[in-house]
Amino acid sequence: MHEVAIMEEAVRTALETAKTAGAARVLALHLRVGTLSGVVPDALRFAFDVVCRGTLAEGARLTVETVPATGWCPDCRAEYGCEHFFSECPRCENLNGELQRGRELEISSVEIG
Ligand SMILES: [Zn+2]
Repeated sequence: MHEVAIMEEAVRTALETAKTAGAARVLALHLRVGTLSGVVPDALRFAFDVVCRGTLAEGARLTVETVPATGWCPDCRAEYGCEHFFSECPRCENLNGELQRGRELEISSVEIG
C-alpha cells in the first residue's frame, strides 16, 4: 500500500506544523492530487484514518482536491486534457507534448487549532 507511506509522510508534516505552532490539534489536512499521480483518493482517505490514530491529528478532516492532467503541445501550442502520460496532441497528433499538470501530490494546507 503505497498510499499508507504517502499518508504517513503527509501526516508527519502536518504534526510538525502543529508542533512548531504550539497547536494542540491538527483539525484538517488538505491535499492536491493529480489524476496521473498514481494514488487512489479513497485509499488515501482510508490510510489517513489509520495513520492519524493516537496522534494530534486523530479525528481530523481530510480533503483531497483532484487536479486534472493537462498537456501542452510545443508545436501547435495547444493545451489539452490527458488521460495518460503519453497522450497525443488532439490538434496535430504530436506525441512530444509536455505534461503540465496531473502529477501533483502535495499538501495544499494544514488547519491547526
Ligand atoms: Zn499539437
